[in-house]
Amino acid sequence: MPHKHPTQADAQSRPQPWSIAANLGLSVFQFVAGLLSGSAALLADALHNTNHAASLVVASISKRISRKRPNAKYTFSYRRAELIGALIQLTALVIIGLFLVSHAIERFANPVPVASSWVVFGASIALLVDLTTVGLLWATTKSSLNLKAALQPKLADAAPTLAVLFGGALMLLSGWTWIDPLLTLAIAAFIILSSLKRLAQTSRTLMEATPEDIDLTQVKEQAESITGVNDLHHLHVWELDESHRALEAHVVIYDDITHRQRDIKRQLKGLFAERFSITHSTLEFERASEASRRKETRLVASH
Ligand SMILES: [Zn+2]
Ligand SMILES: [Zn+2]
Repeated sequence: MPHKHPTQADAQSRPQPWSIAANLGLSVFQFVAGLLSGSAALLADALHNTNHAASLVVASISKRISRKRPNAKYTFSYRRAELIGALIQLTALVIIGLFLVSHAIERFANPVPVASSWVVFGASIALLVDLTTVGLLWATTKSSLNLKAALQPKLADAAPTLAVLFGGALMLLSGWTWIDPLLTLAIAAFIILSSLKRLAQTSRTLMEATPEDIDLTQVKEQAESITGVNDLHHLHVWELDESHRALEAHVVIYDDITHRQRDIKRQLKGLFAERFSITHSTLEFERASEASRRKETRLVASH
């Protein structure tokens, strides 16, 4: 299997129970601290963290489903269960983000007192838990490649908490309560933008889009460079999931070499696997005389 993005997938494939528990505990704590202090920003960060625990749970459930073997009902296997899980979770995140935006706007209109010392305290604890999680990951992850993939999102996720900590300190010193809804807006924007970005990626795969690094004209050109191949058209290249790609195409071969069809097929499959990491290809062969009669030569079929 030549095409595989090992880092992200592997790092996410083992959501550890302790990290889910730590995340959940932290979220509950932040939520309570948010309610006690009247800080919307702390609530926002709590929701953001809750989502991490939720995403770990969703990932582990959908991962389990997606490992099921293909069968007569699901011939493509259950791989895309993960994509559906991600779709649900990301949609929920966008809704949470929009809720936070409306909450922040309401707070701008009707300011409430914020117990800034609680905000600082809550954010410090949260940051401490975040850093401990990072430290534990550091200690338990062997390869540096996996470590980087696992740490990057963790560090990015600590950013809102860090912002809340600074904002809380500033409120404590200045008494400016408008910092709180401002922080809430910033966290909401962070949540919405990062979710939309991942939603776009997930949707692309669900829409069976051509993988981003594949240029169809290049696939055609390289296929046609094989001796005996006259034309390649009606081409589909799509991803079953991030590590499995499939291709479907019509291959026109010259009439006088139809006896070499088997050999050409083998060469084409080798080319697709090697150059484009496409491990599953289905080819429909046509003779040059038939194809010219039908005049169907579009690279992207109109169906
Ligand atoms: Zn088609
Ligand atoms: Zn055709």
